[in-house]
Amino acid sequence: MIGSFGELGLPASLLDELTRLGYEEPTPIQTAAIPPLLAGSDLLGQAATGTGKTAAFALPMLVGLGERSTRARPAALILVPTRELAMQVSEAVHRYGRGLGVRVVPIYGGQHIGRQLDTLRRGVDVVVATPGRALDHIARGTLKLDDITTVVLDEADEMLDMGFAEDIEAILAQTPPQRQTVLFSATMPARINQIARRHLTDPVRIELGRTPSESAENLLVRQVAYVVRRAHKPAALGRILDVEAPEAAIVFCRTRNEVDELSDQLNGRGYRAEALHGGMDQSQRDKAMGRLKSGTADLLVATDVAARGLDIDQLSHVINYDVPSAPEAYIHRIGRVGRAGREGVAITLAEPREHRLMKNIERVTKQRFEIEKVPTIADMRAKRMELLRGSIRELLIEDESEIAESYRVVVESLSDEFDPMEIAMAAVRLAHINDVDDVDPVEIPDAELRPAGGGAKAKGQKKYERGPKGKRGGGAGMVRLWMSMGRNQGLRPKDVVGAIAGESGIAGRAIGSIEISGTFSLVEIPEDSVEQVIRSMKGAKIRGKSVTVRRDRA
Ligand code: AMP
Repeated sequence: MIGSFGELGLPASLLDELTRLGYEEPTPIQTAAIPPLLAGSDLLGQAATGTGKTAAFALPMLVGLGERSTRARPAALILVPTRELAMQVSEAVHRYGRGLGVRVVPIYGGQHIGRQLDTLRRGVDVVVATPGRALDHIARGTLKLDDITTVVLDEADEMLDMGFAEDIEAILAQTPPQRQTVLFSATMPARINQIARRHLTDPVRIELGRTPSESAENLLVRQVAYVVRRAHKPAALGRILDVEAPEAAIVFCRTRNEVDELSDQLNGRGYRAEALHGGMDQSQRDKAMGRLKSGTADLLVATDVAARGLDIDQLSHVINYDVPSAPEAYIHRIGRVGRAGREGVAITLAEPREHRLMKNIERVTKQRFEIEKVPTIADMRAKRMELLRGSIRELLIEDESEIAESYRVVVESLSDEFDPMEIAMAAVRLAHINDVDDVDPVEIPDAELRPAGGGAKAKGQKKYERGPKGKRGGGAGMVRLWMSMGRNQGLRPKDVVGAIAGESGIAGRAIGSIEISGTFSLVEIPEDSVEQVIRSMKGAKIRGKSVTVRRDRA
């Protein structure tokens, strides 16, 4: 059982900070590590990136540092293998300790030493350093470790692999022997145990996720992973959703803030997503669940805490927007699909540095992830072609209406001049061009990928200018929205105005130009009403049909 941060003995000021960050409950490593660290024990922990280990050592450290200190020399030293990690850990300590006024500085090779000197001279509480650069400063007399009360060796195995063993020894020799020492390592080779024996005093040992879980076996779940950098995750998720087309899915996030952000982003991209987290009251949650169950929403974006105890039958996909912090949490999440003999799909978006956490999950589930590539523009187009082919085929088989027949004259008149195959290709292409905007709503984050479509406009698109000229018409302060209906559905400008004004409450006058083409339409909306309009059009119908509204990609 995991419990709450409050039960771990953390003070109110830190609890507030964690709530602000949207953390709902401690991760297993935090539950295990925080109480003994608060009690002053040394600790030897096996934990990989992604388990929440930074907060596990940083929160108790912050408690020990106290508020708004004016000390001249650092009281805590965190040694890390790389510059990237130094920045990341320093940022995390800063974030957690913001309310306490903790001063933290990262020092690493490559950065101009002058800036680091200035900061050190002004006085800091926590130094996060790579071993080489820490030794430089010690040699210069600019980093004094006499007042250090806590040392953390983070990713100790990496530091040893990078040849920092002697540097670490030399640095530890400069610190007071009565300090608290914490060692985190993703693996525990003999050399780590040696260091622990030499430098840790009677440490508490924490090792998580070693026992394969019974419940992980016999799961009928296809487990797929995509390796994506953080910044590209929203776009990658959009494409994955387009290709997988889940009937109903839960997207799990780590924090409340992330749930809110992601559900907004997904709605902005035209998906129907509901947020669910511990910060919402019961009636808000019931509403969200109601919309999922009734099919008004397709996606639930949730934290583990909020999703606990939910029973949703029709889930086809569980999506881990972040790798869960422990294999047990992963198993718990994916246990929601693949029930009752139906195969489910579990999709995990992992950041490159989370490979170890993924390996742990594989070990515990006794299943390998199928690592797949995020669909490229070409994949998206191919998928669209496939859909197109299907719908043409359907039309050929089923549509015997008069309207269908009336197109004969178009083809016949062209067939004097062109080959029927060519005519068909041109017709399909025309249909496909109309689709292009529809197909790839996602911004392309990867510079190496070529953007889609070339912005081709559908032929026969008609623009209706509304309101005082010059003021609107793509003018300043207006944003274009894309709507999934067009002339083929009988859409008229007044339907667009009526629906938007009626649903969102903005004045019809405020709506700018409307362009209606075959399968979609573009409508201009004042920038400050965009979110309101998109939100209110969720689930709305025009001329009896559901319509999707999102920002236009172009
Ligand atoms: P780490 O393993 O320390 O690199 O942490 C991985 C990620 O988990 C970081 O983005 C943290 O902000 C986040 N995190 C850490 N603890 C929690 C928690 N208790 N709840 C939600 N997110 C967390």
